Amino acid sequence: MIELSNVSKTYGSGAKAVHALKNVHLAIPKGAIHGVIGLSGAGKSTLIRCVNLLERPTEGSVVVDGRDITRLGAAELNRARHRIGMIFQHFNLLTTRTVFDNVALPLELAGERKAAIKRRVAPLLDMVGLADKAGMYPAQLSGGQKQRVAIARALASDPQVLLCDEATSALDPQTTSAILELLRDINVKLGITILLITHEMEVVKSICHRVSLISNGELVEDADVGDFFTAP
Ligand code: ADP
Ligand code: ADP
Repeated sequence: MIELSNVSKTYGSGAKAVHALKNVHLAIPKGAIHGVIGLSGAGKSTLIRCVNLLERPTEGSVVVDGRDITRLGAAELNRARHRIGMIFQHFNLLTTRTVFDNVALPLELAGERKAAIKRRVAPLLDMVGLADKAGMYPAQLSGGQKQRVAIARALASDPQVLLCDEATSALDPQTTSAILELLRDINVKLGITILLITHEMEVVKSICHRVSLISNGELVEDADVGDFFTAP
């Protein structure tokens, strides 16, 4: 479903070059929840941002659902991106839009009609447990509620893949558990493949099937979560 081959990313050049990713290979099957764990600066953000080309790899290919997205033209890439949802540590909601209008945004951008948008947004808000908050603004919500809005927004365009960039790092442990449970639910019920990056072992332990360890831009381990945590 997601396949990175020989992916390298260098920021800058010459003496100032930072080799954020070095020859990364990673294959994630459809329906998996895969975690990438590593210290700050290891390359996690760069890695996950290469999967939807928020960053363009310097080298290598990124195949999502059978297509190498590094080779797509602008229009095709836009369409491909619609099938890749993403959520962030700081939620990235639009503060001047209500909960409903935040979730509706990707559908509006795709040119959907008002009636179709209503039909789509209501069940999404229901799924994330915010049916009664549709008219509120982000500032009126807790962190966990904000992340639920962001999840609903990410699901609006019916993605096959959900990328989670430190999605629970700004949340307290109890809220983290609830959000992870929601992500597990989405994986099981909708069959969405999830790639998440985190610096927290607990996140990996609680929902990932497999985990990769990244260190200095290199993937140094790739294991089933059970094996990873029982290894000597
Ligand atoms: P992590 O997410 O694991 O903290 P990052 O992918 O953010 O790691 O960063 C990996 C390395 O690349 C770090 O040395 C970081 O400073 C550097 N880096 C990240 N983004 C940029 C950028 N836009 N320009 C230059 N260097 C960057
Ligand atoms: P995160 O919360 O994902 O770790 P960071 O604070 O590391 O975020 O990075 C925020 C933004 O700054 C990202 O877009 C990243 O690419 C960029 N960035 C990170 N490190 C550098 C750097 N050394 N030089 C320039 N940009 C950077």
